Amino acid sequence: MGDGKNRTINIISNYNTESKKISSILTKRLRDKGFLIPDKYSREAELNICIGGDGAFLRAVHRNNFPSIPFVGINTGHLGFFQEILPENIDDFIEKYIQGDYNIEEISLVEGKVCTKTNCFYLTAVNEIVIKGNKSKVIHLEIYIDGNHLERFSGDGVIISTPVGSTAYNFSSGGSIIYPSLKTLQLTPLSPISSKAYRSLLNSAIVPGHMVISIKPELKYENSILIVNDGVELKYSNIEIINLKLSNKIIKRLVFDKNMYWNNLKSKFL
Ligand code: NAP
Repeated sequence: MGDGKNRTINIISNYNTESKKISSILTKRLRDKGFLIPDKYSREAELNICIGGDGAFLRAVHRNNFPSIPFVGINTGHLGFFQEILPENIDDFIEKYIQGDYNIEEISLVEGKVCTKTNCFYLTAVNEIVIKGNKSKVIHLEIYIDGNHLERFSGDGVIISTPVGSTAYNFSSGGSIIYPSLKTLQLTPLSPISSKAYRSLLNSAIVPGHMVISIKPELKYENSILIVNDGVELKYSNIEIINLKLSNKIIKRLVFDKNMYWNNLKSKFL
């Protein structure tokens, strides 16, 4: 018997064969140490272990409504930027966890308030909220930072990314990599047009997290906007304004190696 007596851990796995295999090995090892592994997600658990790739991590966070229970990830996905533990290191992870040999890192989230002519809807994302055209047409957006008009954007759309999301869609679209502990949002254009007809910023802007980024679709585009929240498409009619800022809510993850971020960047992107 180990040191896990009366301590509950949730194991959240995606459906791929490798993840399910790791999930049953991990369940057995943790139960051997005395931990309780419930069959269904428990809100009383002290840790969420997510098995899969980054997509599995994002879905686990959304499905469980951005819980305050910290996460740690075991990577069976393609990239696994969020997923620190490799399946072959499970035993080492369990030992370090029992010893308390880790830090807890806070992950900032982006929050969106989408107001239509009749209602307002609230969104939260780990990586990003994207505002783009729902057909293959140029969209025109008025963009304000804390009430100051920045630009009339014309192009495919914009990404509003968190620091942890900066290595995802934002990075593929030419945005900068932002260290996770910085309290910022990044506004990154998607195929911006800069011509005699339209003039849009071609690069990202990094905005302090407490400032509000407001986006107003031009009137005739109010029904042509698609919002993509961590990869999930959402459609609203008659959008008047979308306000985005860093959320007061955070999620937490365990970090076992303080150099992980920079090592991860090098090994996964270069
Ligand atoms: P997906 O289309 O199946 O996968 C998107 C890819 O992005 C996967 O390789 C995923 O890693 C990786 N990823 C996710 N979050 C990341 C992060 N914070 N840093 C580095 N890489 C990350 O979609 P999904 O798995 O449901 O994930 C949704 C995310 O896809 C969105 O939040 C958006 O950022 C990203 N996306 C990227 C592009 C693009 O780069 N052109 C376009 C659309 C959406 P795993 O392989 O480990 O799952």
